[in-house]
Formats: sequence, structure tokens, C-alpha cells
Amino acid sequence: MKKNPLIELHLHLEGSIYPSDAAHISGTPASQLEPLFRHEDFNDFLKHFGRVVSLMRSGDDLRWLLGRHLERLRSQGCVYAEVRVSPSVWERFGIEPNAAMKKLLEIEVPGIAHCFIVEAVRHWERQLSERDLDLALEMKGRVRGFGIGGDEAAAPVSGFCWAAEACRKDGIAFIPHAGEVCGAEEVAAALEMGSRRIGHGIRSVDDPGLCENLADEGIHLEVCPTSNLRTGAVKTGEVHPLRLLWERNVPFSVSTDDPGLFLTTLEDEMALAASITGFGEAGSEVVTKEALRVSLLEKNEKDRLGTILSL
Ligand SMILES: [Zn+2]
Repeated sequence: MKKNPLIELHLHLEGSIYPSDAAHISGTPASQLEPLFRHEDFNDFLKHFGRVVSLMRSGDDLRWLLGRHLERLRSQGCVYAEVRVSPSVWERFGIEPNAAMKKLLEIEVPGIAHCFIVEAVRHWERQLSERDLDLALEMKGRVRGFGIGGDEAAAPVSGFCWAAEACRKDGIAFIPHAGEVCGAEEVAAALEMGSRRIGHGIRSVDDPGLCENLADEGIHLEVCPTSNLRTGAVKTGEVHPLRLLWERNVPFSVSTDDPGLFLTTLEDEMALAASITGFGEAGSEVVTKEALRVSLLEKNEKDRLGTILSL
């Protein structure tokens, strides 16, 4: 059976570390690192995110991880990935951001294209987010977007109007995490700030009027089902909101978020999304086409990839 090509729009480089990668980087047996890959709740997950970064000693480790994960994605049929990176988190653990970013720019893996989205930690000092944004703009071209992640409950998206404004002025996309653990109002706020793509955004489901807006205006949600289950963003027993979002024609793609930390793969996520929605093989092609539509590729790059993939 022909395998549909895949596109990954929501992927954190640091979270693409699997236990075997963490063991390779740290020299610690994978069995001893296992607790880092089981998360009690969202804050526990954030703690583990920092812990795995602390295992890395330099930009060379990040560079190694990027190459390794892009190869993994390619082997699953992924042809294009947008990779989020968190320079402030690197710096907190002793890795100099500019030098590390330059190392990452050296990586090209044949058969899979990629670009970067710089991600700020929303609940840390604004000064750090400003530096993250400066780095993103300095490397504009290879970096095509700016996002905010971390503790949504502690730092609403409305605190980042300055960043959304700077992104608009300098021509890069502002793609915040919103409506992941907090409510639909966070998605609505991101829309008001000009975002056309939202990280997660699953709680939009609680506001049918908002869903209608998303559908009408083609606002896209980057949905990561296993992530939502492992962090507790979707409660045990709750039907994943993706089913209703699909029924309401809200545009979305399927991603892994932090595949290593959540012990999943892009193929697994697509299969899980198919079982939640019942969209089948044809649906997965529609999802890839939609991902291509909202990707940060230039128009000619989108057209070329669309032609190659017969989308
Ligand atoms: Zn994320």
C-alpha cells in the first residue's frame, strides 16, 4: 500500500531525544534515565524537558540530535519538518545560544527539508524572550517563525503582543502555544494578535463560535495527540478534542511535539489521529496537504514540494 508522505510542523528539537539518545549523549545507562520519560502532569513534563537539555554539553550534542532525528523522520516518510529550538533553555544549562544555533545550521539531511522556529519560554523573564527573538531575526531565512512555549497558565499569550508586533514588522510568523492547557480564550487572544497558526489550540473545542471562525478563516491548529494525553492536557477518559475539531472542519495538522520525551513517532501520531477522527488513509493525505498549505515554506517551495508529492 502506498504510504502517504508526512509533514511535521510542531517538533521541539530538545524533546526529540529518546532514552537511547540520552544515554549516548550522557554516558548514563538508558535504564537509569527512564524516569525522565514518564510525566505525572504538565509541570512534571516541563521539568523533564529541562533535565534532558542539562544532559547536553555543547552545540555539538544538539547538532548530533538534529541530524539523528531528521534521519528518523525521513525513514517514516516525512519530507519536511519545522524544528522548534529553545536557546534560552540551552543557555540556562551552559550552552551558548549563538554558537549552538550556528552548529545546527550546518545540518542538511538529503530527502527531508527543514527550517527552524525559535521558541521562547513564556514564564521566564521578558529579557530572555527578547534575546530569543533577536536571535530568530538575526538568522531569518533558516529561522522562519517565533513561538512561545512553557507554562501557559503562568504567562498568557496577551503578554507577548510586543513579540507578535515585531514578528509582523520583520516578516516572520508568530506561532504561540495557546489553548493547550488553558481555555479557548487563549486561542481567541492569539488570533487577535494576528496568529494564523496555533500550537495545539485543542481547547478551541470548548467554544463552537471560535471553531467556526477558525474554519472560516483557515486558522490552523498543530495538534499533537499523544503529547496531550501524556501531559494531562486531555484528561484520562476524555475523548480527544480532535474528533470534534475534525467534525467542525477546523484546519489542523498532526505532529509529535516532543516525540522522544513522549515515546512516540510521527507515524504513530498520524495513526492515533486517524483512530480518533476516523479519517482513514484519504484523511491523512488531506492533513499533509493542509500542513503544506500553512508551512513556512515560500510559495515556490510549496508548489515544488506539492508537485513532487502529487498533493
Ligand atoms: Zn510544543
